[in-house]
Amino acid sequence: MALNLIMLGAPGAGKGTQAERFARRWGIPKISTGDILREAVSTGTATGLRAKAVMARGELVGDDVMIEIVRERLERPDALGGFVLDGFPRTVAQAAALDAIMDGRDPLIIIDIAVDEAELTRRLGSRTICEGCGANAGDAADEVMSAPESTASAAGRSEPLKCRRCGGRLVQRTDDNVHIVRERLKVYHLQTEPLVEYYRSRPTFGLIDGAQPPDRVAADLAGAVEAAGNGLPVGKPAPGGARR
Ligand code: AMP
Repeated sequence: MALNLIMLGAPGAGKGTQAERFARRWGIPKISTGDILREAVSTGTATGLRAKAVMARGELVGDDVMIEIVRERLERPDALGGFVLDGFPRTVAQAAALDAIMDGRDPLIIIDIAVDEAELTRRLGSRTICEGCGANAGDAADEVMSAPESTASAAGRSEPLKCRRCGGRLVQRTDDNVHIVRERLKVYHLQTEPLVEYYRSRPTFGLIDGAQPPDRVAADLAGAVEAAGNGLPVGKPAPGGARR
């Protein structure tokens, strides 16, 4: 049975971090629509050019565009054996389209990661990501990045922080500035939070507390997936993918 997992939660709830850990653990692709769009913006594709201004304002890219991106991605062979979706669906229209895409496939497991607003704002204001590969520098539990401290050179200059995975520069996401964060949280409450009601009655829905340390959240996520999937996950973790 394929593990088809979607992660709900506000910006800053830790969806990306947890999705990445879980996907690696189970050897399935992590599909982040935010990453796909940021890549499209940086390579200058037509979709990227259209999405850029919308993302910069903290608003949502149109449903039709997003649904086509995800439909195409989920049909690729590596996603047929399971996937973790991060950042999609974000509207009820996207959720309905995803149900149609999933028709005939194993059921979706839906996990909502709950974090209170003050903590979300604090996290978003202080997180940095890698300019090169997009990894989250706050992802200390994953040991992907350098510690978030500057190192002083012999000349007393401050060296830029580097990504441990690819060597890229660590920067703040442009949409993590305080005004855009406010807009993104507003958009979340208005357009994305209704998804909890959309999914809540399904036996494959689970809720976890995202305010805990990342290792605890990961453990709760694994437990919730197992419970929500009623016996899932089946199969074995990917070789070498076991997490500390
Ligand atoms: P994220 O990295 O998930 O926070 O996404 C960054 C930005 O990409 C969002 O603020 C939206 O502008 C856009 N985006 C990502 N996923 C979606 C989606 N499913 N629907 C609409 N816009 C999205």
